[in-house]
Amino acid sequence: MKTPKEIIESYSGRSMRIMEVCGTHTHEIFRCGIRKILPPQVELISGPGCPVCVTPPGYIDSAVELALKHNCMICTFGDLIRVPGSQLSLAGARSQGAKIKAVYTPLDAVEIAAANPQEEVVFLAVGFETTVPSACLAVKHAQMQNLRNFSILGSNKTMPNAYRALGKCADAFLYPGHVHTIIGSGICRELLADGISGVVAGFQADELLTALAVILHHAEAGDEPFFENCYRRIAKDTGNPAAVKLIEEFMTPCDAEWRGLGVIPGSGLKINKTYENFDARCKFNVPECSGTPHAGCRCGEILKGILKPQECPLFGKVCTPVNPVGACMVSHEGSCSAYYQYGR
Ligand code: SF4
Repeated sequence: MKTPKEIIESYSGRSMRIMEVCGTHTHEIFRCGIRKILPPQVELISGPGCPVCVTPPGYIDSAVELALKHNCMICTFGDLIRVPGSQLSLAGARSQGAKIKAVYTPLDAVEIAAANPQEEVVFLAVGFETTVPSACLAVKHAQMQNLRNFSILGSNKTMPNAYRALGKCADAFLYPGHVHTIIGSGICRELLADGISGVVAGFQADELLTALAVILHHAEAGDEPFFENCYRRIAKDTGNPAAVKLIEEFMTPCDAEWRGLGVIPGSGLKINKTYENFDARCKFNVPECSGTPHAGCRCGEILKGILKPQECPLFGKVCTPVNPVGACMVSHEGSCSAYYQYGR
């Protein structure tokens, strides 16, 4: 019997464009050298899987406004601090006196609010289904403590409609195991009706090799569309009911803007009306704005697989991980950053 590596190396079927939609997958595939064993007709596209990469400049502009105009203390995951907005990043705002704090979890921000009642603390809630439950938990804790000085600025994204929007960009998705641990793998089976193929994958080298081998096995057999869950030990069909219940209690689906991809209908979550006193946009009357990315940044084309990062004229010259021009170069899991670290 062939090993997954042997199945991949001996693949002789049609050309396949496989899209990863998870920054950890992108990073691990590079780190483990998996790209080097792919046959020439198999292309991996690093799609929109890094939360930082898909956060639009208008969202950063709103966070900067809260920090500089409303004097809020902004608590955020560290990567977001260097993401460029239209004019300023949060790091730039900090150099103008803004209070910007890196935290590890949204609950850290709740603790900071409780310890500093004189400060208005705003947590920047970005990311996919994997981080939403912890943002909901933060709101729940703030409510239990009757904190009036805590709110969240939301830009959470959900994957199912993004798969539909990106379906034509790839022949198959490497579905992110952690997202489907929360929402279940059943949704991937539903996507078959839209002609969308993919395999749910774990995060270790052997799990990634297995998932890629399964995709190529189906492609070689001419199956279309196809779906397999190769992360069954964690991602169940129905997901994590407790996490889903928490999301449904605190969040409502909405349209969402993805950096470089535009608005994808029904691909976001916003805090629901019952808890809107914890919604920083309502509390400080900060409307959504579209923002302006750097004119030369090609993040959108890269996330759709139209361009490779090194085909962006700014890659590695003007835009580097130390001096990122676009969001895809900020986080070490971003598409451009991963190519910069491993692919040059
Ligand atoms: S290399 Fe930099 S400027 Fe070019 S697409 Fe990537 S992030 Fe944007």
